Amino acid sequence: MNRFDSQPSTLAVDASEIEALAEQITGPVVAANDERYDAQRAGFQIARQHCPDLVVCAVGPADVQAAVTYAGSRGHPVAVQGTGHASAAVAAEGGLLINTARMSAVRVDAHARTAWVAAGACWHHVIQEAAPAGLAPLSGSAPHVGAVSYTLGGGLALLSRSLGYAADHVRALHVVTADGRMRYVAQDTEPDLFWALRGGRDNFGVVTGMQIDLMPVTTVYGGGLVFPVEKAAEVFETYLEWTSIVPEAMNSSVALISLPDVPAIPEPMRGRHTVQVRIACAPGDPGGTERMMGPLRAIGAISDTLGELAYAETGSIYNDPVVPGAFEAGTAMLGELDATSVQAILDLAGPHAQVPHIVELRHLGGRLTHPPAEGNAVGNRDARYVLNVVSRLERADIAEIRPAHARVLDAVAPWSTGGRFLNFMNGEGAAAQVRSAYDAADYERLTGLKAVYDPHNTFRLNHNIPPARGRTGERGDPR
Ligand SMILES: Cc1cc2nc3c(=O)[nH]c(=O)nc-3n(C[C@H](O)[C@H](O)[C@H](O)COP(=O)(O)OP(=O)(O)OC[C@H]3O[C@@H](n4cnc5c(N)ncnc54)[C@H](O)[C@@H]3O)c2cc1C
Repeated sequence: MNRFDSQPSTLAVDASEIEALAEQITGPVVAANDERYDAQRAGFQIARQHCPDLVVCAVGPADVQAAVTYAGSRGHPVAVQGTGHASAAVAAEGGLLINTARMSAVRVDAHARTAWVAAGACWHHVIQEAAPAGLAPLSGSAPHVGAVSYTLGGGLALLSRSLGYAADHVRALHVVTADGRMRYVAQDTEPDLFWALRGGRDNFGVVTGMQIDLMPVTTVYGGGLVFPVEKAAEVFETYLEWTSIVPEAMNSSVALISLPDVPAIPEPMRGRHTVQVRIACAPGDPGGTERMMGPLRAIGAISDTLGELAYAETGSIYNDPVVPGAFEAGTAMLGELDATSVQAILDLAGPHAQVPHIVELRHLGGRLTHPPAEGNAVGNRDARYVLNVVSRLERADIAEIRPAHARVLDAVAPWSTGGRFLNFMNGEGAAAQVRSAYDAADYERLTGLKAVYDPHNTFRLNHNIPPARGRTGERGDPR
């Protein structure tokens, strides 16, 4: 089937089986010929939709357990969907999809500074619950992204340079593994699985909930500076110099953005190609932070929204779209950059770009370079920047977008570390590049643990880590 074809696959499960499964599950069980099917498989990303044989709309861990047990006993693969922000990479064709959207509970323990977050909760659910206690989670640019999947994939947060990856602040996970067991996974109960899940994302089971640290943060100094595209070279060059000296407290990105002329886009970005610097600075000395912005402000922004911001308002820093859409994306992790690298990016992604796209550089380093004491599977901690190139399919043809993205990624190849960040691997070919999200020894350890916890690769409709060959005699590396 064409990867952009959203038609469901032929029903491969008979009605009596569906009935038997539905009896064990509290939420709806929906087959491909059911009128609820499209709504239950729909996600934020609409370029590629999951086309499973069955969707289990879980309302709690017991539903997840029954669904995984059923699939395991029949050899069906299992996919999971929270909000569907990442189905761009690997869409299920056939098999069973567990939709966790109904599991959105969040419980905050203000005293312990932790939150228990269910599988389908988005960051805005957690932010809302944590704020009255003067706390905040390590959420990212978009509050409507699923908190659990984001965290399992690493979780590059607004404040990550100051506080580390979200995956570095997980205390415990509730997981249903391929054998249908419901496990409490923490450093002192199952250290190997705990290590693998934090970075290995959806390869080792369905996480039904996680306990995470919350940070004593109520406000940040944040917002954006918008410049006309004619100043792109000056902004990028200043930004690179600036990021080489700013303290860990300063989290930022720079992006070239071409936006359509539609009322939903605020002035002065509407219908224009601009360069934007986005800032999220951990609370500290406000005067010092203001002074730090001097070199960037001196360039002359056409919009300046920098200032103190309640943490609950931090979604405004990136203003990521909240309406589902179709997009294609490419990514690369980069080392130190120089003026030549800036020119390479601007030549392809500036106002003369053949297809409209966003090219973004997020500044890494700081606490991101320090794994937590017990370690986890998040890789590529030595990268200095992560580059993302994103295009909306509504604005250009996929046949033009893919080569355009490939040209940008080729142009920055001399500065690439060779690594990629799992959460940003959503484009064509991402499924074949999973190895690059991990350090080499960690990837070997992950394939070994996969052979232990999911020897039949039940969880393979994802950014797949195959079970190590020889340990199981089962499916090998698909690449
Ligand atoms: C607009 C936008 C902004 C983003 N900003 C950031 C950012 O700032 N930082 C960052 O790190 N990432 C960011 N991301 C990436 C995002 O974190 C990942 O795409 C994440 O996987 C999305 O999770 P989801 O539940 O929303 O999506 P889904 O598509 O529902 O899930 C993504 C994958 O996670 C797996 N999964 C989902 N739920 C579970 C579960 N309960 N147990 C096991 N596996 C599960 C699924 O197999 C699925 O393939 C952004 C993405 C978008 C589209």
